[in-house]
Amino acid sequence: MRIGNNVLVAGARVAGAACAEVLLDRGAAVVVYDRADSERMQALAARGARCVVADAFDPALLDGVEQVVLSPGFPPHHPIAEAAREHGIEAFSEPELAWRLREPGAARWLAVTGTNGKTTTTTMLAAMLETAGLRTAALGNIGVPLVHAANGPFDVIAVELSSYQLHWSSELAPTAGAVLNLAPDHLDWHGDFDAYAEAKAAVWRGGRAVVNLDDPAVVALAKHTDAHVTGFTLNQPEPGQFGVALGYLVDYTGDGPVQICSVDDVRPAGWHNVANALAAAALARQVGVGHNDIGDALRKYVPEPHRNVTLVEHEGVTWVDDSKATNPHAAAAALASYDSIVWVAGGQLKGVDVDGLVAQYAPRMRGAVLIGQDRALIADALARHAPDLPVAVLDGGDDAVMTEVAARAAAMAEPGDTVLLSPAGASYDMFRSYAHRGDAFAAAVRGLIGGDEG
Ligand code: ADP
Repeated sequence: MRIGNNVLVAGARVAGAACAEVLLDRGAAVVVYDRADSERMQALAARGARCVVADAFDPALLDGVEQVVLSPGFPPHHPIAEAAREHGIEAFSEPELAWRLREPGAARWLAVTGTNGKTTTTTMLAAMLETAGLRTAALGNIGVPLVHAANGPFDVIAVELSSYQLHWSSELAPTAGAVLNLAPDHLDWHGDFDAYAEAKAAVWRGGRAVVNLDDPAVVALAKHTDAHVTGFTLNQPEPGQFGVALGYLVDYTGDGPVQICSVDDVRPAGWHNVANALAAAALARQVGVGHNDIGDALRKYVPEPHRNVTLVEHEGVTWVDDSKATNPHAAAAALASYDSIVWVAGGQLKGVDVDGLVAQYAPRMRGAVLIGQDRALIADALARHAPDLPVAVLDGGDDAVMTEVAARAAAMAEPGDTVLLSPAGASYDMFRSYAHRGDAFAAAVRGLIGGDEG
């Protein structure tokens, strides 16, 4: 059965509510379960869904249900998922439903997954498709829900897919899919690293795999795929690969190497974004986008906020907001982008170890300013690996602390340094989101330098 007539939708945030709407439009009987009531729940009830708000899930809700659509907050060990399995009821994610809703002539999908860089790569890819004159959009956690866009006016869509969404998929098979990198993250959800990696491999189900050759975990995963592999590397490419040669991004999948654009054209800064650009280029080539269009798109690309973005240069010091670095792997990419750094970090490490990150990048640091729930864990790592480094550990528990962060960082920084907010942890201990954290930092920096952007 591709889409059932009796469906339970678990979780009524943006994507879950969109699924319920689409299913109701198809005439299905829909039960919506969420822990909290909301305007969305009420609107769905008004449209005929049976909306159930409860702390604990009652398995009786599955009576008569043929399929379950699970939001990202529902891991495989959640009672709903377990009950569905026991009763032989199929469970899947919003992108899987979107895939099943596609009608003949619907847009092709190019998909992007990985621990970090998904949004950047997906938006770069959409820029390339658009430059080539294709009707496109960046979707999947970006823009309108996929279930609303599946039959929209598009030729090819650039789709960001998380490990959660891929775990709960079975038919979804993009024209081509890229795995950007794999580092420990979300292990509570998946159980262990192998399960996390395995989930991501579903992005290659369509038979064309774009693979980061510089990431051993991605290469190991690709050994098990039957898909046709196109690799990308930050080194000189061999025939059949995308890579970097003489300061240019190069496609060497044809008869000879073709230059796409200069490394300096790629924004935001950092080699990780060159890798993202290569992945996006490799995907765009799968649907025939020309090299000139790919290069033009990268030159025009406007970076998404809070991802290694320069806020201001003032008195020789560059202030950078990389608040989206919510795990050490992302922070490593930003720390590798600058030579002399005052590091602003902290937040919720989610059980991921920062020792390796600190050991590797402490030599580039002029100082560090630490905030948030797990600040002491980072301070301990710095004390072990760089005992002489000036470190300020701030106790404030709300966004007002950013004023002190900026003042302490300014006192440590010298001309030529970069003050880098790249927290390595999630923001929810002190902020509503990574965006709120980045905005608080930017406001504090503006306050400190008095709006002088010279
Ligand atoms: P995602 O959508 O996977 O969270 P983003 O593009 O939003 O990825 O970037 C998240 C964070 O990861 C940012 O801090 C960014 O600077 C960093 N980042 C982006 N691309 C990469 C990459 N290829 N490797 C490591 N870190 C990256």
